[in-house]
Amino acid sequence: MNAEIIAVGSELLLGQIANTNGQYLSTELAGIGIDVYRHTVVGDNYKRLYAAISEAVHRADFVFLSGGLGPTEDDITKEVIADLTGTQLHYHEPTLKKIREYYEKTKKYMPANNKKQALYTEGSEVFYNKAGMACGFAMPYKTSLLILMPGPPRELKNMFWNDVRPFLLRELGGESLVLSRVLRFFGIGESSLEEELLDLIQAQTNPTIAPLASDGEVTVRLTAKAGSHEEGTLLLDKIDKEITNRLGRFLYGREEETLPQQVVKHFRHNKLTLAAAESLTGGWFSKAVVDVEGASAVLEGGATVYSKSAKETVLGIEKELLNEAGMVSKECAESMAESVRFLYQTDVGISFTGAAGPDSLEGKVPGTVWIGIAGPHGTTSHLLHLSGSREQIRRLAVYHGCWFLLREKVVTNDVF
Ligand code: ATP
Ligand code: MG
Repeated sequence: MNAEIIAVGSELLLGQIANTNGQYLSTELAGIGIDVYRHTVVGDNYKRLYAAISEAVHRADFVFLSGGLGPTEDDITKEVIADLTGTQLHYHEPTLKKIREYYEKTKKYMPANNKKQALYTEGSEVFYNKAGMACGFAMPYKTSLLILMPGPPRELKNMFWNDVRPFLLRELGGESLVLSRVLRFFGIGESSLEEELLDLIQAQTNPTIAPLASDGEVTVRLTAKAGSHEEGTLLLDKIDKEITNRLGRFLYGREEETLPQQVVKHFRHNKLTLAAAESLTGGWFSKAVVDVEGASAVLEGGATVYSKSAKETVLGIEKELLNEAGMVSKECAESMAESVRFLYQTDVGISFTGAAGPDSLEGKVPGTVWIGIAGPHGTTSHLLHLSGSREQIRRLAVYHGCWFLLREKVVTNDVF
């Protein structure tokens, strides 16, 4: 089954708002196994909207429309659908009642055009709007199904989740259930990951396997259709195990888990404490850890040591080391990690030093980052060559730091 999404509204074309409804619907439709092939944005213009819908119904099994269901003159989606499908518009009584009651209750004058919001086309299934006024509906036309939802994101989400989604699941074939699971990987690129899983991806039917790269990590979404929850879980477990067997060394979590969360979990589990010395990350790492509930059992504290003299006075890094090896060096990173570990008397110390850009630092190009880790089993460090903006480089440095804490043998011997 495939779908297209048409977002209606001149404000979208003018760039005044972003099409977040399209994004939301695409995500949710993927989750129930409906592939979205095309997004269209069209203004509040009768002719162009008419053309956009009539083209889409030739291509797609489902055409989702957002916006233009309101009371004003420029809200024309329902009229266009009625004209295109050659059907009559009727008033949906419960919606009409809601609109009238609203005006009675607030003692406001009700402009006549408000009734428009209660219109639906003959032969459609109406969706009552629990979060607003205008009702939506699903209307079969030719070989496809037109589904109208209101433009305000809160209303659209409410209607999609409570009414449209269950309706679609019924349409898609009885009581079949859709379950999905996200696997999260770090330290491997999207194309390498895909290469490792190519045979599985090519053979995929149920569950489907969809890799996605974002922000330094790669996620793989598994989606299974099944007759029951148990059957779906079994299908997901089987493919999950196969993928984990191949790529387990890069897997850090599932679903919404984040790297800092895993660090806190790993450290709590191993009863380890942590301190951080941060130069280019400027406290970002500490914040990321403190954002996680339960961080107090793990993080003792940290030091933001941005300048050379701060590294010297706060952490006691030797002047000769700073002058000879430099601030962006293995020696400096390791010495910072050891110093902060000693300063806070923790099991582990981590350090971040590097050039975030846009300028080079000590002749090191932006993106050159050293991360040091001092733990109960020794000290180690990693050189990274990151790319992107100043912000991306700093964020990626934090993620890499978390990743090393999870898999470094100097932290714990039983790494996964
Ligand atoms: P209303 O009854 O509020 O007029 P409507 O169904 O007619 O609702 P629109 O008039 O098209 O919808 O849009 C109402 C508001 O909803 C817009 O001003 C905008 O803030 C938001 N909106 C509309 N379409 C989108 C979209 N595709 N993505 C995000 N927000 C949107
Ligand atoms: Mg409107």
